Amino acid sequence: MANLILDGDIGMWYSLSSIMKFSFAILLVAILSSHPVFSLGAAEVEWKAGLATVKITPERPVPMAGYSSRTKPFEKIEQDIYAKALALEDRQGHRAVLVTTDLLGLPKSIAEPVCDRIQQRLKLSRSQILLNSAHTHSAPILSLEERPESGVAREDWQNIVAYTRGLQDMLVEVVEQAFARLEPAQLSWGSGVAHLAMNRREFTPRGVILGVNPRGLVDRSVPVLRVDTPEGRLRAALFGYACHNTTLTQTNYNLCGDYAGFAQSYVQERLPGVQAMFMIGCGGDANPYPRGTMNNARDNGAALGQEVSRILASPMQPVRGPLTCEFDQARLPLQQLARAELEKMTNGPSWQAGNAKAMLAKVGRGEKPAMAYDAPVAVWQFGGDLTLVGLSGEVVVDFVPLIEQAIGPLQVWIAGYCNDVFGYLPSAHVLREGGYECRGLYTTEGFFAATSQDVLVAKVRELADRAGRQRLK
Ligand SMILES: [Zn+2]
Repeated sequence: MANLILDGDIGMWYSLSSIMKFSFAILLVAILSSHPVFSLGAAEVEWKAGLATVKITPERPVPMAGYSSRTKPFEKIEQDIYAKALALEDRQGHRAVLVTTDLLGLPKSIAEPVCDRIQQRLKLSRSQILLNSAHTHSAPILSLEERPESGVAREDWQNIVAYTRGLQDMLVEVVEQAFARLEPAQLSWGSGVAHLAMNRREFTPRGVILGVNPRGLVDRSVPVLRVDTPEGRLRAALFGYACHNTTLTQTNYNLCGDYAGFAQSYVQERLPGVQAMFMIGCGGDANPYPRGTMNNARDNGAALGQEVSRILASPMQPVRGPLTCEFDQARLPLQQLARAELEKMTNGPSWQAGNAKAMLAKVGRGEKPAMAYDAPVAVWQFGGDLTLVGLSGEVVVDFVPLIEQAIGPLQVWIAGYCNDVFGYLPSAHVLREGGYECRGLYTTEGFFAATSQDVLVAKVRELADRAGRQRLK
């Protein structure tokens, strides 16, 4: 539109006095800069965006992650699983890439070598890469080494390791493809609500169990980022939801993206050619409701997909640059437990006993238990329009209001399970109450201390300030 106005007015342009020409030019710039959703010429568009999808369904059946009682390979492919990349470049040339995956979680040990390769090949810094996993419990176990003690057969471990190495290659490739396809784009975002998340911390006379707590807090918001061509044709929709991707339970042996996989296919089937991407939020203590069957997973996915489609059909807010990406580690304190306390904990519930036993074994080898765990935190600031907070680990919902209080509640998107999935990240309040989410780290040993909450929130505030987020007074 901008080019058309200029071209069409060229004849008149010469007849204007130089003062009038100057005033008109100022006015035009003012109108265009305040209406970025106008279709603009290639020189004026706010963004370039590149998209790529790769199927990551294993060629050979492997055991699935998330439920330790399930040690045999999957039996059927209910749904293919994917890794999807969205590469962005703002007008100043600042670049970043977001990768979403239909997987349980990418721990540091698998994610960082991938990020190193992406950094080298595409000349990016670590802050410009964000990896998210949807936490589906119907996707392969990931590991770069065999763990024979786990009950999984030797041959299956070999397949898991081979799959994981291949997956690392595919993640690098999907990012390269996305950057190779950068094209002028405009971004906008909006938010809605879906009701499938249920707080799962059920209070009983025996303490907090994994159950159903209808009065417990959940984040039911559905943030959506849309990527359009400069002419306004939809190319991609990134959406979030804060709920465990566990409609399917340990009895399921079908490979599947669960509700998030079905929600992505719901959107893609109705909007052919559009890349739908799912990024999980702070759903560490939320389960889908109802759950247990493939039909439940399909229905939950349809409910979320329907809301995403409704948001896409509604007016959305423009998202302008510049893009500023910040990344750091929050040094989260771990509980310093005496040997007697650890020994007592070995008689507790299995999720607690296993971690305590591993810590005792470490002490027995003469090693000192770690004082803290370095959890990655990412903040992407999109001009004055949107702040994307990418937390690592299985973050409980309490962190949503805590972060909103710390950096302001408006124009914020909070994701969990980013860059490193190392275990649960409980709030001080959850640690006081107890329950499964207090199980701590599972990629190494240790239980988070209550003070880790403040350290994490302070790190988010620091990075948001550094990225230029304007806080409401
Ligand atoms: Zn989980």
